[in-house]
Amino acid sequence: MSATAPAPSPRLEKPRLGEPYLLTPGPLTTSYAVKQEMLRDWGSWDDDFRAMTADMRTRLLSMAGANEDFDCVPMQGSGTFAVEAMLGSFLPKEAKALVLANGAYGQRAAQTLKYLGRDHVVLDKGDYLPPRGAEVARILAQDPDLTHVVAIHCETSSGILNPIDEIAEATHAAGCKLLIDAMSSFGAIPLDPAQIPFEALVSSANKCIEGVPGFGFVIARKTALGTARGNSPSLSLDLHAQWAHMNKTGQWRFTPPTHVVAAFLAALSAHEAEGGIAGRGARYTDNRDTLVGEMRELGFETLLDNRWLSPIIVTFFCPADPAFSFGRFYELMKARGFIIYPGKLTEVDSFRIGCIGQMDTYVMCDVAIAAKQALGEMGVASAAPPDAALNERAKLLA
Ligand SMILES: *Cc1c(COP(=O)(O)O)cnc(C)c1O
Repeated sequence: MSATAPAPSPRLEKPRLGEPYLLTPGPLTTSYAVKQEMLRDWGSWDDDFRAMTADMRTRLLSMAGANEDFDCVPMQGSGTFAVEAMLGSFLPKEAKALVLANGAYGQRAAQTLKYLGRDHVVLDKGDYLPPRGAEVARILAQDPDLTHVVAIHCETSSGILNPIDEIAEATHAAGCKLLIDAMSSFGAIPLDPAQIPFEALVSSANKCIEGVPGFGFVIARKTALGTARGNSPSLSLDLHAQWAHMNKTGQWRFTPPTHVVAAFLAALSAHEAEGGIAGRGARYTDNRDTLVGEMRELGFETLLDNRWLSPIIVTFFCPADPAFSFGRFYELMKARGFIIYPGKLTEVDSFRIGCIGQMDTYVMCDVAIAAKQALGEMGVASAAPPDAALNERAKLLA
């Protein structure tokens, strides 16, 4: 390289020509380094792969800031498999859980408990209102049969960052155990076990750590893992059995997603090089701030007030202008290289844009430019949402 060569661009590498950015909360846009690791095969019981599994577990515990009271157990499948493994393994038959729901993933946790035959009640806050510590405390005080609380850290269906500190405090004060779905937050938003008492949390390979899909993992107290024996109604999703087998043999109980694990180790290295949770969280926060600023500039409104916006994914109201159609908008954005995400609200039309994955603020500016062009092409004069949407939001701010 000559001495006059320009300094390396601070921009992240772009996807290959013709490959869109995935502005979705997993699967998401991964780096070449991560994808490249999938080009070789590994023997699942070979020492080399066992060492990779052990290394991954250690590094995840270290990322979580977990001390020797905790262990990490990976589980094959998508994130939901790992959530089901956590719930089925840590809730004994006689347990009763309070599920805090404000979106699709809270609802899914409740549905999982139904399948598992575990007694539960649901605090349903609708599409996006946060469950607050005081109401959790009230419910736990009124029902002494409750033993566990199931909470969603970032409810990805709206993008709300739930007040997990308040929830953990209320749960702990009532002598109950907290199980956290930290799927879309782990790796970017701190969840310090020294500050936030929890029994277990669950996340997966393809969210903030920027790996590819194929497994999830549970970070749990060893006391919980140790006493979980015989709880799980499922053979393959038995966390205690996976933990005991892995600690004894270094192997997964059933065929592991070897290529995904190899890719995940590269993703962990990139996460560490970026400055861990703080560094990753800072980039995502910049992404969100740029995206939200630029989109508001175009007249779009976010579902949530700034206070509840997570740096993971943002919900925008669809414009009221009758020329706007989400299907058309999606196609026009895709043609410009961006895959966006439909909304998941029941009351009003919305769409979502993810801030996670191999993307930086340059990309977020390009997203807003593409959105502006798409509106122009549809003949949408104003991106302002319908009054009904704003009335909905006013309820949240009240
Ligand atoms: C992604 C996600 C899940 C798991 O979804 P899968 O499609 O099974 O990977 C669970 N909970 C939350 C909050 C999520 O964001």
